[in-house]
Parts: sequence; structure tokens; C-alpha cells
Amino acid sequence: MRLMLSAALAALAGPALAAPQVVTDFAPVQSLVMQVMGDVGTPTMLLPVGGDPHHFQLRPSQAAALEKADVVFWIGPELTPALDKAIGALGGKALSVPLLHKGEGHTRDFADGEGVDPHAWLDPTNALAWLGTIAVVLGKVDPPNSAVYAANAVAAEAKLVALDKTLMAELAPVRGKPLIEFHDAFGYFADHYGLNVAATIELGDAATPSALRLAQIRQTALESRAVCAFPEAGRDPAFLKVVAEGTDLKIGAPQDPEAALVTDEPTPGLYADLLTHLAQTVVDCAGN
Ligand SMILES: [Zn+2]
Repeated sequence: MRLMLSAALAALAGPALAAPQVVTDFAPVQSLVMQVMGDVGTPTMLLPVGGDPHHFQLRPSQAAALEKADVVFWIGPELTPALDKAIGALGGKALSVPLLHKGEGHTRDFADGEGVDPHAWLDPTNALAWLGTIAVVLGKVDPPNSAVYAANAVAAEAKLVALDKTLMAELAPVRGKPLIEFHDAFGYFADHYGLNVAATIELGDAATPSALRLAQIRQTALESRAVCAFPEAGRDPAFLKVVAEGTDLKIGAPQDPEAALVTDEPTPGLYADLLTHLAQTVVDCAGN
């Protein structure tokens, strides 16, 4: 009897009220999807809070979340190779949306030419395009809420356009000043805001630099008259000291392109905070 009653209640609730099961890879994408879903539901983020996407390995609980998913929004296999395998193993049950490969916005190669740079969320024009993509995909997965997703995306886009304008103005005085970045994550941000990355300490896929490479970067810093070098959240600043020794480089505040410093569950506003903080580190160090 109890079983029949619960079955009847479940039927009454109907599929229209159930939010789709949405999974994201890591905090910046989680923030964008949260903005589009609004009150309809909350996506599940696979990466632990503050986790490093490059070295992400799927745990059993995360694999279970992935198996229940209707749709997965993620950057792509270049950022999280382990997730690529896990999604492949689902056999197409969940709709996979690798945002880097959606044919919108701007892509760039790593400075060392080693393939596509996956840090595409750091160009806000990409995030703008993705907000639209996310709304369209969610509308297909969950047609009763498609108008809500579309309206949320439009509101999120307007906020992001305003933020972009502010950051463009804040960064104008430091355009072109040579900077040393820690890992090659900064290219999209630099391209968009006209910043000048003279060198990065770690190459492409966040590999540890050799002594020879550090000496070369130090030479580049001297020759380019680089003004600032930036440590990065969760990475060893010792390399930076080697590079800066005997140069006029100022050491900036740690940058956080991958939300490694975030200790709380992501919020819809995380993405804007990430860009704002990144801009602030550059202005504070190179701005006078
Ligand atoms: Zn990275």
C-alpha cells in the first residue's frame, strides 16, 4: 500500500517539476551554469573546491554523480583528461558539452605551441558565448524551463558586459607592460585586455620548470624589462625567487586563474570575482 502511494505521488509530481541533473567540471563553469539555472536547480561540481583541474582524478562518488547526469558542462579534455575518459565510458547517456569545442568565442594555442590552451574561461567573451550555449542546451534538456534559462542567461550576460567594461578601463594603464606569469593560464585574459606576457615559468600543461628554463626566463625578464612577476595559488613560489634574483621585477600578489584559493562552495558570483581579482593583481603590481 505504502509502495503504491509513493508511486502515485511520484506520478503526480511528474517529470516537469524535476530539475535536470546537471554536472560541471570545476568552479568557473559551475558559476556560469549556476547563473543560468537560477532557482530551477543547482548543478553538481565534480572537482573538489580549490582542486587543480590539470591533475584531477575521478573518485567513485564523483563517478556516481556523472552516471546520474542528464548533461555535463565542462571545458574539455585539454583541461581534465581524466574526465574525458569517464564521460567516454558513460556511452553517451549524458549529454556532453565541452565548452572549448562549441565553436564559439576565442581559442588560442599554448605559448610553446603544444596544442590548444584550455584556460578559455579567462576571456570574458568566451564566457558570454557559453552563457548562451548553456541556456540553449538546458532548454532542450528541460523544455518547461527553457524561458527561465534564456532570461537568466540574458541577465548574466548584461552583468558580465558591464564588468568587462570596468576591467577594460582599470587595466588600460598597464596595457603592454611586460609581465612574468607563473603557468601558461593567463593568455586568454592577456589577449582580451591587451596585456603583455613576456614569459611564463611553467609551460603548457603545468610541468615543473628545469634550472635551464628558469635561467632563460630570468634572461627574458631582463631583456624585456619585465615589471612584475606573479606567484600563483597552490604553486611553489621558489621558482619565482630564482627568476627575480638580480632583476628589478616586483613580485605581485598570488594569482588565482583556476579558483584554487576558493574555500567555500562556488556561488553564481564566483566567475566575476575571479576576473576582478586577476585584474586587481595586475593593476596593484604594474599600475604605478
Ligand atoms: Zn592551468
